Amino acid sequence: MLAMNYRGPRRVRIDNKPMPEILHPEDAIVRVTRSCVCGSDLHLYNGNVPDTRVGMTFGHEFTGEIVEVGSEVTKVKVGDNVLVPFNIACGKCAFCKQKLFGNCHESNSQATAVGGIFGYSHTAGGYDGGQAEYVRVPYANVGPTVIPEGMHPDDAVMLTDVVPTGYQAAEMGGIQPGDTVVVFGAGPVGIMAAKCAWLFGAGRVIIIDHVEYRLEFARNYAQCEAYNFRSLEDPVVFIKKTTDWMGADVCIDAVGAEAAGNAMQTITGRKLLLQAGSATALHWAINAVKKGGIVSVVGVYGPTDNLVPIGNVVNKGLTIRANQASVKRLLPRLIEHVQNGILDPKALITHHFALEEVADAYHIFSDKLDECIKPVLVPPS
Ligand code: NAD
Ligand code: ZN
Repeated sequence: MLAMNYRGPRRVRIDNKPMPEILHPEDAIVRVTRSCVCGSDLHLYNGNVPDTRVGMTFGHEFTGEIVEVGSEVTKVKVGDNVLVPFNIACGKCAFCKQKLFGNCHESNSQATAVGGIFGYSHTAGGYDGGQAEYVRVPYANVGPTVIPEGMHPDDAVMLTDVVPTGYQAAEMGGIQPGDTVVVFGAGPVGIMAAKCAWLFGAGRVIIIDHVEYRLEFARNYAQCEAYNFRSLEDPVVFIKKTTDWMGADVCIDAVGAEAAGNAMQTITGRKLLLQAGSATALHWAINAVKKGGIVSVVGVYGPTDNLVPIGNVVNKGLTIRANQASVKRLLPRLIEHVQNGILDPKALITHHFALEEVADAYHIFSDKLDECIKPVLVPPS
């Protein structure tokens, strides 16, 4: 089968790989129909996630048709069209029982780390992902969710990650009616977080980035204010000024490790990344939020990144809430929001590529070319 193949930082290509097989009675094999490239894949692509092994197939946002099931799979059957949450979750451990499906204890043998994630390095379990014609889906009684009749396939694939992540970013912010919410990062996740902030009663939503076409998109899609941090003398001072020097009620980091490279304009290695800490969106979020405010972090960082200015957190009495989105927990509510038109995630998908064009998809999305917001790969049918 055709599959994306990681060859090293900024080198991905399409190759022939062996078909995945059922390895456990709860596995299913899915023929992929759509598979997005995510900002999280860019951390892997840029070589910023440890233990990202050459030969791995990325892809944690995918939909497809079930073509084979193990003997213990009862919740889905061959022929079902499913969307598959990016978290691999056993459904039975102490964390899954609390609906912390992103923190499953069984799907990643590194028990102190994140739960398993499709196509996300050996720090997240070492599973191959869905940027391929076929993918093995473990714990198939838990994650795969039948796509409701009539749902647009681009909406369905956005429900595997971007919609729940944006929504959970806003939810973790504990937004109160009338709050000023500042979102750092106008990628798909930040734009969705800005859109969802209104659902929690925000009175003002501001998004900060440095890519003009993304700011323009966010202004229209999320009906929010949008500012280019390169045109502001200092984004923290700007936010203070515009909130009567109080600071924002809630700040959301929807950037992650990428921001650490801004100061250097290049991401060439771990050392530079760590030195560039003071320029991160996370610092801006902590410094721009009001005393006693909440910083919600969905931006992804490497397991050992150590970028929190803890003194400011303590002195301002802040709450920091962070996690991988718990996709399965949020799906029932978010499927409804899409079905009744409250959320329109397919509008964020600006590019459809054939799976064979995977290298172009990464290049265009990573380098913010051709006004790309979100690319999706479509394997041959
Ligand atoms: P993306 O790369 O498309 O968007 C990131 C945006 O941040 C870009 O537009 C970039 O220009 C902007 N940016 C860079 N430095 C900035 C700074 N200092 N201040 C403000 N903006 C800055 O990525 P995405 O797909 O939108 O994902 C965003 C983040 O969310 C990534 O870190 C990704 O790994 C993470 N993510 C987390 C989860 C989760 O469950 N927690 C799920 C999906 C994605
Ligand atoms: Zn993703």
